[in-house]
Amino acid sequence: MKKILILTAGFGEGHNAAARSLRDALEHIDPSARVEVLDLFEVGYGRLNEVAKKAYLGLVRYAPGLWNGVYRWLDTSEMANRNLGAMGRLNHALADVLKHMEPDCVVSCYPAYAHAIRELFRDHQERPFRFGTIITDSITVNSAWFKAPSDWFCVANEPTGQVLRKNGIPADQVRALGFPVNRVFAEPLSPPLESPTRHGPRVLYIINTGKKKAGKMLDRLMEIPRPHLTITCGRDAELKTELIKRTEKFRDRVEVLGWTNQMPKLMRTHHLIIGKAGGATVQEAIAAACPMVINQVIPGQEEGNATLVEQIEGGAVADGNKDVARTVEEAFDDGAAVWKRWRKNLEAVSRPDASLRIAEMVLEDCSRQDRPGNGRISAYPRPAGEMPGAPAFIPSNANRNLLCDFHIHTNYSDGKLTVAEVVDFYGKHGFDCICITDHLADPRRLIGKLSRLTNLTLAPSQLEEYFEVIERERRRALRRYGMHVMTGIEFNKDGLSRKSSAHLLGVDLQDKIDPALDLEETIAKIHSQGGLAIASHPHVMKSEWGKDTLYLWENQETFVPLLDAWEIANRNNIFTPVGLKQLPFIANSDFHKPKHINSWKTLLHCEKDPAAIKQCIRDNRNVAITLFRDYLHEASPQPAAFPLRLEPRRIDVNRVLAV
Ligand code: ZN
Ligand code: ZN
Repeated sequence: MKKILILTAGFGEGHNAAARSLRDALEHIDPSARVEVLDLFEVGYGRLNEVAKKAYLGLVRYAPGLWNGVYRWLDTSEMANRNLGAMGRLNHALADVLKHMEPDCVVSCYPAYAHAIRELFRDHQERPFRFGTIITDSITVNSAWFKAPSDWFCVANEPTGQVLRKNGIPADQVRALGFPVNRVFAEPLSPPLESPTRHGPRVLYIINTGKKKAGKMLDRLMEIPRPHLTITCGRDAELKTELIKRTEKFRDRVEVLGWTNQMPKLMRTHHLIIGKAGGATVQEAIAAACPMVINQVIPGQEEGNATLVEQIEGGAVADGNKDVARTVEEAFDDGAAVWKRWRKNLEAVSRPDASLRIAEMVLEDCSRQDRPGNGRISAYPRPAGEMPGAPAFIPSNANRNLLCDFHIHTNYSDGKLTVAEVVDFYGKHGFDCICITDHLADPRRLIGKLSRLTNLTLAPSQLEEYFEVIERERRRALRRYGMHVMTGIEFNKDGLSRKSSAHLLGVDLQDKIDPALDLEETIAKIHSQGGLAIASHPHVMKSEWGKDTLYLWENQETFVPLLDAWEIANRNNIFTPVGLKQLPFIANSDFHKPKHINSWKTLLHCEKDPAAIKQCIRDNRNVAITLFRDYLHEASPQPAAFPLRLEPRRIDVNRVLAV
């Protein structure tokens, strides 16, 4: 049983939202895990905390300028930093909880805890758990978040990751997995949201500001003729009654809600949100790909959130009530041109499954903690000769090349193993990332029709199940082996001759793609899902099966700009011309059965994260190929010199490159 402690604080809205979403995701993935969410400011400070919270909220509401000053002071003052770490009662409360719970992993959603943990485990007393921080700010990140150490820092997006790296946090500690929003955001929406041009836009207005302002804003909004308006106004019953009265004559297109726990659903079923630039709200809007018109920004801590929306171009920051109404109106003018652009931009960066991905990482982190050899860091004396002050834990993926295979068939097409068997097989061989790519034939092509009849390719009706099964195995692989599994498809576009035949890999697909699309359309679809389009065995092969597929190679002027990479090696074949042309390359097994593991593979020097892996292939820098040999299953000819390896194999790329 894994024990995970999540630490949060009720200041502002982002910390608690992140903590709750992560807990739900952890429990969803691993029902046996024991997950505790704790606000130690509440436990440790009692009534004093209530006063502090009220002061904070009051300060924010009535004197944003003053708060700005306080916030900057906290950010720059060394004194403030030391005080954060020395907050005695917080430290005591934390020490107590740690002693009783003995967590495998502690996750902090509020900066003060990292300072407390640094205080509790300073000198040579090593801490017996993994510790990670989820940063809930964006872009303008208060340095209190990273001035005390964490094993990893999870950030909502790449620009925030850059801020950390610029401030000296090692790249392998920075994980841009997205903001942990409620996992409901990742569930399919049915029916899907209609275009706003069909029955008019649906606008969600989240009221946080004082009553008077809210009323005036509504009057202006109701002057716009078409939108359907949903208003949420929290637990303020008086305000709710007042708003219902005020919108009486628009009853057919205005709905006033009080407090609601249906925010994810509301965001996904509306076209636009009006609200303040709170950390959770902005991140949830991005997850829902719902454009936002921001009507309030708390200086300092919320500026980053507002900047983020502007940088993504997923909405606008409005200045005053009039400007809000005008911005909303303009977004839906001209067939909603502006809105459509916002929506598209948001879809490109949306990470609705972030809480699940972070949860997977945390669970993986916990198992790492248990594994002997990786050093369960405890109060036990160090082995003689070990350097004092050496890092207690070195992540296994630091400065190591990732062993990858992006072309694998299962028994969903003509492979011999099931998806689960493939996962176990590759996991035990120590792979870091694999992509399962079963054949999907073009039904319009003669050979496509034939091969489908003989059960050698995926039937289009199986695609949904195929995606589900791989998704399930993906989670298991990450927990069990720390291996990333991607869903892919090998699109078979076979003609009657080798020059009219092409095989195209779609790597890391999120959804099915119509097999009848032509190659260029298929590549566009792959890219729209964030996937990689790769030419499989693009040149002449010495193959024990099948025939050459040369169409992509023969039409390079069309396909070089479109494809992300070309297989420079496929199983035992090496395609020298791909190297001569200096095309971006990778190497794959084209795995159909266990003996195919003895074949060319790709090594990537990058962060062990699907997004980083894909980017590494796109950039095609720090990519190497290696001829993999299976020492795990084959009896060695010289047992004394080459004992059976029971541990996953680690490859030294420098040696490989020197060969
Ligand atoms: Zn193929
Ligand atoms: Zn293949």
